[in-house]
Amino acid sequence: MIRVFERIIAFIMGLFRRPEPEPGPGPMPAPALSLPHPEEPPDYTQTAETADLDNVFDGWFLQWGVPPEHREYWRHAIEVLVCNVYPDYLFQWWPYFNPDTPSVTYELAGVRHLLIKPAWLNPGVIAHEQAHNSFALLTLNDFAAFIIAHASLKDTDPLVKLLYSINPYGLTSDVEAHAEIYRYLGQSMPRELKQFYPKLI
Ligand SMILES: [Zn+2]
Repeated sequence: MIRVFERIIAFIMGLFRRPEPEPGPGPMPAPALSLPHPEEPPDYTQTAETADLDNVFDGWFLQWGVPPEHREYWRHAIEVLVCNVYPDYLFQWWPYFNPDTPSVTYELAGVRHLLIKPAWLNPGVIAHEQAHNSFALLTLNDFAAFIIAHASLKDTDPLVKLLYSINPYGLTSDVEAHAEIYRYLGQSMPRELKQFYPKLI
């Protein structure tokens, strides 16, 4: 009789026993954030004569996902030149222009020009300069809206914060911020900023 009673008690206790946790590998660690388009080192073996502009543009088009319908614009509506020495008129325009600047873009007689030193001819530098050329398509109101959106995202968006922790150059001006965000984040930039990159996003 007592034995039956003990078995009933054991049965009832068993109902309340919590299942043993399954031994397992534990929660998966979150993947570490990284820049979608990290910086490429300069290649000092490239020369203005050996530079393959079409190949570098194709690399940029593919890696940054440039919309196919705008690739012709970026390749031919912009006057692109690989040069060892920048033309004199740039130094007349900007007396403090550094002759060792890797690349530069500007408008002359209604045409956008992109000049680049051979060592720096790579998809990332092209991406930075073409972001400036995309910026040239914005209205002043667009730019003002970009400044406001960027001002909050630079302290809150994980990828933008990562970018500035690695390379703070974009913090020197809103125009450079606009170019650096496209150059390093490409299509992975915050959704709120994509409207400010005509023909690129
Ligand atoms: Zn720039």
